Amino acid sequence: MRVAVLGAGIAGIACARAAQDAGHEVAVLDRGKVPGGRMASRRFAGRYVDLGASYLTVSDPAFERVLAGTVHAWTDRFHVWEDGELHGPKAGPMRWAGDGGMRAIVTALTHGLEVRQQVHVNRVTQGSVDGEAFDAVVLAMPDPQALAILDPSLTQERATISGRTWDPVLVLAARWDARLWEVDGVFVHDDPVLEWVADDGSRRGDGAAVLTAHSTPAFASTRLAEPAEAADEMVAALTRLGIREPAEVLRVQRWTYAKPVGTRSELFFLSSKGIGFCGDGWGRPRIEGAWLSGRAIGQALSS
Ligand SMILES: Cc1cc2nc3c(=O)[nH]c(=O)nc-3n(C[C@H](O)[C@H](O)[C@H](O)COP(=O)(O)OP(=O)(O)OC[C@H]3O[C@@H](n4cnc5c(N)ncnc54)[C@H](O)[C@@H]3O)c2cc1C
Repeated sequence: MRVAVLGAGIAGIACARAAQDAGHEVAVLDRGKVPGGRMASRRFAGRYVDLGASYLTVSDPAFERVLAGTVHAWTDRFHVWEDGELHGPKAGPMRWAGDGGMRAIVTALTHGLEVRQQVHVNRVTQGSVDGEAFDAVVLAMPDPQALAILDPSLTQERATISGRTWDPVLVLAARWDARLWEVDGVFVHDDPVLEWVADDGSRRGDGAAVLTAHSTPAFASTRLAEPAEAADEMVAALTRLGIREPAEVLRVQRWTYAKPVGTRSELFFLSSKGIGFCGDGWGRPRIEGAWLSGRAIGQALSS
């Protein structure tokens, strides 16, 4: 079969790999400049900062094998900010970070695949993607992005992914002249603006004085039109946590569809018309879940 996989995030790449290994002819189409999707890293002054997913956890042995050579153990201890003070650190599962940023994990997995970047798909119909013929089309992206390109004639497929909410998040990346903190990450429990702060220097292992601060969905939803304008309020929220103003705000990254609300127990959906869905909207809504979802639908195309 000729298979189109739409989306070069970790789910799409896992799907493409499994389908290609099963003997299909596979093309991955993605609108971004580089693969990775929400596992996003961007270079500032020569070093990568993670602007999307912060880390990954691993429980599946096959996923662990696939990651070999691209990740390092970051930390199993995070703090919590609550009632105006810092608590912890508290031990949890090992959190893994990308050696070259989270994006580089996905890039490494594209080896040997046909991946077409900067291709914005506009219309998926049965057997075709923007007029190019394919036997099967897998949409590996958040439901609202898939709905935007699925032809109205695909009523069953559209109904399958309609009506689910996806939370937005803004991510502030900022640089200080010196490290002023001794934490790897802080879950913020009771701030209206921030819910998570990560030390990008300890995550990367280079000790750079760079933090990323993730907003609450409620705050992000009021600032999606002009994310850069949220910087001052996000910096003010950091100062509430005792971190003084940064030397430089590097970026405010907008994720309109950061995370699905709720979970689906199925790992993927594949219709009789050869239209499939996978990604973190299926199974557990984390990076490992997205990979498992993509691999499962890629394997199912052969059965
Ligand atoms: C701020 C943030 C923090 C997170 N933190 C964590 C974390 O710490 N740990 C964790 O496990 N998970 C985390 N996640 C979730 C994790 O990033 C996702 O579960 C995972 O990356 C989803 O991968 P995916 O392949 O399903 O989708 P995506 O990575 O979103 O890939 C979808 C791809 O489809 C492409 N696309 C969309 N529409 C089109 C179109 N019309 N034409 C062509 N291409 C298109 C996009 O460009 C994108 O590359 C976080 C997410 C965000 C946003």
